[in-house]
Parts: sequence; structure tokens; C-alpha cells
Amino acid sequence: MAETIPLERRATLEDYAAVAHLAPAVQVLEAEAERVVPLLEGRTLWMVNSTAQGGGVAEMLPTMVGLLRDLGIDTEWVVIGSEEPAFFPLTKRIHNLIHGAGDPVFDDSERELYERVSRWNAERMAEMMEPGDVLVVHDPQPMGLPAFLPEDLEVVPVWRCHIGLDEENAQTRAAWEFLEPWADHYLHAVFSAPEYIPHYFARRATIISPAIDPLADKNRDLSLHKLVGVLAESGLAVSPGPRLTPPYENLAQRIYADGRLAPANGQEDIGLLTRPIVTQISRWDRLKGFLPLMRAFAETKRRLFSGDVPDDPVQRRRLDIVRLVLAGPDPSSIKDDPESQEVFASLVDEYVGLEPAIQDDIAIVCLPMESRRENALMVNALQRASTLVAQNSLREGFGLTVTEAMWKHVPVLSNSRACGPRQQVRDGLDGRMVADPEDEEELRIALESMLADPAGRDAWGRSAQRRAHEEFLVFTQIRRWFELLAWVLAPPD
Ligand code: UDP
Repeated sequence: MAETIPLERRATLEDYAAVAHLAPAVQVLEAEAERVVPLLEGRTLWMVNSTAQGGGVAEMLPTMVGLLRDLGIDTEWVVIGSEEPAFFPLTKRIHNLIHGAGDPVFDDSERELYERVSRWNAERMAEMMEPGDVLVVHDPQPMGLPAFLPEDLEVVPVWRCHIGLDEENAQTRAAWEFLEPWADHYLHAVFSAPEYIPHYFARRATIISPAIDPLADKNRDLSLHKLVGVLAESGLAVSPGPRLTPPYENLAQRIYADGRLAPANGQEDIGLLTRPIVTQISRWDRLKGFLPLMRAFAETKRRLFSGDVPDDPVQRRRLDIVRLVLAGPDPSSIKDDPESQEVFASLVDEYVGLEPAIQDDIAIVCLPMESRRENALMVNALQRASTLVAQNSLREGFGLTVTEAMWKHVPVLSNSRACGPRQQVRDGLDGRMVADPEDEEELRIALESMLADPAGRDAWGRSAQRRAHEEFLVFTQIRRWFELLAWVLAPPD
């Protein structure tokens, strides 16, 4: 049933303000809070979603709820529940349909189930809420709640949708039709990109980008020793000297030439500390475009080995020693996801068939998932050790890996077909955007030209970092929420 979630705080507003380069953003946020806090006086802001753990929303909510409280807004986080086992499979199906896949036919019993569970959770919520409270409902699972809250509560309901597809098909139409009656009960909705707004929200929707937490383990600064320490302790690099701390319990693994998975620093060091490195970190999903990226990189090497070498000796050397790191979750942690297992297996198959010299220069890396903290630090260190980060997704809702790289001053290679990355990366300013992630030739040329241009990479990285600072940090996200809340609570005439 709907229950409030206690917060595990990572950092307080004071901690952010104590970081020199974050202090100005905190100041602006505090100034803007002064305008909105009086409007929320005597009201509680309820954030409602469907899980306390796993997934981007659950990861982002603690930071946001904590900061809102620090700013003087009474904020609570509630997770809905269901005693009916068919409910979450149904909402999972709705989720997939919004992404354009799955069985688009709903029957009456499914509509009734959704209604029953929504009513049941709304009854619990109504016991906790006070008149005039603000309700922010995240994603489709709890979307039905406001329809069943007593009218005299005069709740101010806003729907935050974190998913979407920039295309329409029978699947997306079915999902949005299913949700339409519940949308009528909202004053306003928030989406991550304009392309995701269904027609019935067109006149009452706002865009707010997802955001990252600059002090989270995945994004915080790493001192030189800490960075090398994380790489060495996780087995991503051979330790260059004696270390203070022992290796992690679960080490990063890599695929070897025969397809075997073994510790990443076992045979030969990947070279994260010295070589030019191109990295993509993602779930093993076909839509992440690992395969065309690997093929493009292999072709760069193949051309070089066949004597098609650039005139510039530095670039020749760069292409000779550059390595590609394709990293994702340890497959044993995704046992319940046969599709990802399959994608991973076919990537490995293709890798095993490559020429040995090319295999040496490609590391398919599996990151252990047992410790969230260690996994986040590994992702952080890998991104920081990269010359450039690729996100070759065929489709991408937003692409936090792009944001994470931008924040770390790392230029990004992505494509303008994927909706999320094109909201973030401006081609030629923050990195490079190819037109087609499946065009291996276009990818190869972009990859080589980025590698050939150290001054460009530096400029793209700087611009990317500035853009992430201004647009995609949690402070901006909260400020956008403030603008929206001010508008829904005291709309201009
Ligand atoms: N990620 C991770 N460990 C991994 C692979 C990915 O922590 O082994 C993280 C990655 O850093 C990012 C998130 O998972 O924060 C993926 O979010 P994104 O929006 O890029 O794609 P999604 O997986 O939601 O499609």
C-alpha cells in the first residue's frame, strides 16, 4: 500500500554550497525559493512514484526531496503499492507501449484493475493529505490517484512523465488512450522533451530536463589518487603502485579473445591511465547501438593495419594505441532480462570473430552491480578516464550517460536520431552528433576526426560542462519546478 519513504540523505544544501563551483547555483536556487516558499506555506508537497529502489526516478527523488526540505518546503515521498499481482505487469506493459513495443490491446478487466488499485492507493493518500496539498505523480503507475481523492481536499495535482517516444505507432496510441481518462484530473503535466507530449496534454505541459546530482558518487569530483584508486581497486586497471585500501569484493571483468569473462586487469591492462580511450557505458540493450559502434571502431583499426594511415604521425600513433571500452552491468545481475543477455551474447560473438590485433584494442567490460556505490564510482572513474564518451543509441529517452560525461568535461559522440541526446548535445559545440547511429562509415569518420582534434575536444568538453552546469544539474531542475509551482498555485490572470 502507499507508504512514505524515509530519506537517506547524501548531501545537504550546505554541502553543495560549500563547493566553490556549485555555490552560485545554490545561491540562485535559494533566492528563487524565497518566492515560492510562501505560496507553499501550510501545504505539503507529495512526490508519488511506484518504487523506492531501482530506476532513474527512485535514484533522483531522494536528492530532490532532500533539497526541497532544506529550502523550507514540507516535502514527502510516497511509493504506491498493490496487493494485486497483475497490477505491476500491467503498468510495465503500459511503460513498454509508451516506448512503442508490446501488445496494444487492453481489455475491460485491465481497465478495472488499474482503476481499483488507483482507488485503493488514493484512499491511503487521502488519509495522509491535508486540504490544498500539492501532489506530483511520477509516471503511469500511480497516474490514476487524483481521480479518487475527495474533492474537498482541493489537491493541486501535477503529472511528471519521465518516459516517451518521438514517434507514434499503434502501441504508443494504445498506451496514451488507456491513460487519457486519468489525465483529465491533472492541472498540468511535465515531460522531458516536447516530442513526448500526447495531444491531450498539449496545452498544459512543461518541459523539465532530467538532472544529475553533482555530489553523487557517480558524478562527484575524484582526486587523482581516488581516481587511480577506484580503477585499481575495481580491477579496471593494474595498480601502478602500493595502495592504501584493498580491492573491492566484486571486481570488474572483461571478455577475452575466446569469449571468456575474467578479471579485467588479468592478462593485459586496458590502458585507461595512459591511452586515448573511447567509452560507451550502457545497459546491454540493442537500442544502445553497441554493435555499430564496435564495427566502426574495428574499421578504424583495420584501415590503419592495412596501411591506410594518416599523414600526421601523432594521429597515426593515436589511432594505433586508442582503445574502445564498452561497459555495462555484469550479465549475472541481469539474469531476469533475457533480452539483454541475448544482446550481450551477440556482441561477444561478434567480438570473438574479430582479428586478434583488433580484439586487443576493444574491452567489453562487465561492471559488478552488488554495491551501488562501487558501481557508481567505477562509472565515474571510467567516464573521467575517457578521451571521449560515445552514446550511440538508436533511441534514447534522455540519456543520463550523456549528461554524466558532459558534466565531467568529456566530449560526447552521439547522434541526432536519438531524441534524448539531441536535447543535450549541440553538434560542433558540446561534441559531435552523427545523423545515423547505424551508419558505420559516418561513425568511423566522426570518431577519427574527434580523436584528431585535441583542441576541439577541449573546447567541446568545456562547453559541454558549462551546459550541464546550467541546464542539467538538480538545482536547475528544482528551479524549473519552482516556476511551474508558482504558476499552478498563483496563475497569472
Ligand atoms: N549505468 C550504471 N552502471 C552500468 C551501466 C549504466 O550505473 O553498468 C548507469 C549510467 O551511468 C546512467 C544510467 O545507468 O546513469 C543509465 O541511464 P540512461 O538515461 O543513460 O539510460 P537508460 O538505462 O535509462 O535507458
